Formats: sequence, structure tokens, C-alpha cells
Amino acid sequence: MINKPNPIATRAFFNEGDDTILALNLEAKARKNNGEDIINASIGTLFDEHSSFLTSPLVDKELNEALTKETRGYPLVSGGNEFKEGILKWLLLDKYQEFKENFYTSVIATPGGTGAVALALRNYTEIGQKVLIPSLGWSNYESLIHQVEAIPTYYNLFNEDNKFDISSFKTSCIDVLKHNNRLFVIINDPCHNPTGYTLSKDELTEIVNFLNELGKNSPVILCMDIAYFDFCNLERSRLFFNLLNNLNNLFLPLICFSASKTFSIYGLRLGALIGISQNQEAIIDFEESSLSVARAIWSCTNSHAIKAITNILNDDEKRKSLLLELTKERKMLQERGDLFVKMAKENNIITYPYYAGFFVTAIKDNAKKECEKLKEKGIYALPLKNKYIRIALSCISKKEVREIFSRIK
Ligand code: PLP
Repeated sequence: MINKPNPIATRAFFNEGDDTILALNLEAKARKNNGEDIINASIGTLFDEHSSFLTSPLVDKELNEALTKETRGYPLVSGGNEFKEGILKWLLLDKYQEFKENFYTSVIATPGGTGAVALALRNYTEIGQKVLIPSLGWSNYESLIHQVEAIPTYYNLFNEDNKFDISSFKTSCIDVLKHNNRLFVIINDPCHNPTGYTLSKDELTEIVNFLNELGKNSPVILCMDIAYFDFCNLERSRLFFNLLNNLNNLFLPLICFSASKTFSIYGLRLGALIGISQNQEAIIDFEESSLSVARAIWSCTNSHAIKAITNILNDDEKRKSLLLELTKERKMLQERGDLFVKMAKENNIITYPYYAGFFVTAIKDNAKKECEKLKEKGIYALPLKNKYIRIALSCISKKEVREIFSRIK
């Protein structure tokens, strides 16, 4: 609280949040530029095995062609109908038609997955409401929740068997529902940040059925953060949509999609918030309120990125090519992850179960101190809650994975 007169408002927000990651990344880059042999495993951007920033040739081509006079103008706040259709075709693939016949949907363009989570929170939480998030998760959730004057509350992520702690999840949902008379819960799946955990079919089915059941009597919002969606196999990534059946009117899945990772366009700031319901009124409310808030906060998103992505996603051949490119990226990440987990085991380092995605997490007391020691050896990784160390597999090669372990030794 600030008592003396001060230009900054009392409600101004200060948080280290994700800036820790950006600061670590900058420091690592500066040392690298100075000629030091640095392994930068701090940031969630994808690099190839030669440490070059990985871009998609298909996306590069579309971006080059899409920077026209038209795309320097303002786009529609929603991103437009073609953007909406493209996103749905991408998420649903061959289930697109069937899904459209069974569900009401709406898609709003957002600045990245961050914008999608922020928008969902803004329109689906009350001030002072508890919002449920995983006990170990993306460090920005808390800050985003504070922005809407809600309160982060946690479900325990893993049980003793290192599986999703379904019983803590259910109890926490019921407790929060009692407290708020409504529920807003965030799940980051597949390829969870920071562990790479991916829910099994049974786990995901149980979660969806449970929340749908709760949604019979009270508003239940499942904010499905699928930021790393395209980095696990197709069958698993799209599973969520197959599990949506007979949705109760008060159960609303909101999908937060990030174009940053799928298309390697992190800085072009594009994502989408997708509302799905069998209740038309819920989707009309979703669309109207989302458009109003988007317009009032960021106005519209990047029209250049919208155009390029829309062109790809509405073209059957281009969609197929992109899926192929992503399969290669997925395989590359998988090899890094499998190697890391194997070497961690050999070196008695405990990790959470890694299935797929950009990150793996080691469990380590005094993680902050340990990361400082790693820095001395030229390794940059992110300490979390002083108990975990997140390694971004996305930006290190297999050779660097091996090098990490030889330096630790
Ligand atoms: N959700 C998770 C779990 C993330 O890790 C990130 C980015 O790091 C985001 C959402 C937001 O992504 P974007 O860069 O598209 O805003």
C-alpha cells in the first residue's frame, strides 16, 4: 500500500511473473554473444538441432505474401469469419462438420494464448472469486487472475504415483463451487508447462464428465489452455473435442489457443478464445461480451498474422503440409525429452513424468540456488517455487542435453 502522494496508483500491479524467464533469456544471450559456451534452456521458443530459431517454411511463405496494404489496415476484432472457420478446421480436422452440426461455437482472435486466458477470466469470473489452477503451472496464471481481482487457488497436480491427482482436483472444484456458487478452473493440457505431462484418455474423460455433471446446477467454466496442443500426437491432441457430449447448459468449455507455438510466430501475437456449447444463448453472450472486452482492451489483433494463418488453415493441402512439418518438430522434441529423462534417471535426478512438449521439470530443493550454480556452469534453466527446475527442451539440442549432464557431473 502506498501512503505518500505518488504518481503510481495504489492498485498498480507489480510482479516478477514471466519477466524472470525473459530476464534469464537475455542474460544467457548476452553471455553467448560474449563468446561464452552457454546452454540456454530458459525460454519456450523452438530451436532446431543447430540452435537456429525454427520457423515453418509454409508459414514463412504465407507471411511474406500476406504483408499487403490490406493487412496494414484494421482487421475485425473477432479476426473475421474465415479466421473463425480456419481455427475450427485446425482444431477439429476431420470432425469439423460433425462438430459444427452438434455444437454452437464462437472464435475470437486474441493477442496470443495470454490474451485468450485474460479474456476468459475477464468475462467469466466475479470480483473476489476463487479461480482454480494447478499447483505447478505456467507462472503467468496468478498475474492474469490478479488483473481481474480474483484469487488464485490450487488443485494438487500430481498424486503420490506421479499421476494427475484427480481426487484433489474434484475436491478442490467442489470446495470452490461451494464458496463461489460458480467455478472457473484452468487445465493446461496436452504438453503441460512446465512438466510435459499429458492427461491419459481416462483422466481427461473423467475430468470432462465430472465438470459437465457439476454444470447441471451451477456455472462451470473449464478454461482449457492448449498452448502446446500441436506438440503431441494428433489423436491425443484432438481427444478433448471427442469427449464433449450432451453438454449441460451451465457447463462452458473455453479453449485458449496460441498461434505463437503452432506457427512459430511468438512475437506476432495471435491466438484465439473459442467458446463451445449446446446452448445457443451461452454462445451469443460469449461472443458479444468477448468482442466488447477485446475492443476495449487491445482493440484488434495482428492483421498480418491473421491473414497468413487464415490462408493456411482454410486450405486442405496447406493444413496437411503444416501437420507434416509439426510432426517433425514433435519428433525432434520427443527425442530431446526422452534423452533428458533417461540421462536424469542415470544421474539420480528426479523428474516429473514427461510425455511431450516444450518443457521437462526436475524436482530439486533450493532450486533457486541450484539454478545459480548451473549458471556458473553456463547452463540457464528456470527455478520454480524454489522446489523445481524447468528445462526448456524447446531451445536445446540433443547434444546440449548430453552436455548439461556432463557439466553437472
Ligand atoms: N499458456 C501456457 C501454458 C504458456 O506456456 C504460454 C506461453 O508461454 C501461454 C499460455 C501464452 O502463450 P502466448 O505466447 O501465445 O501468449
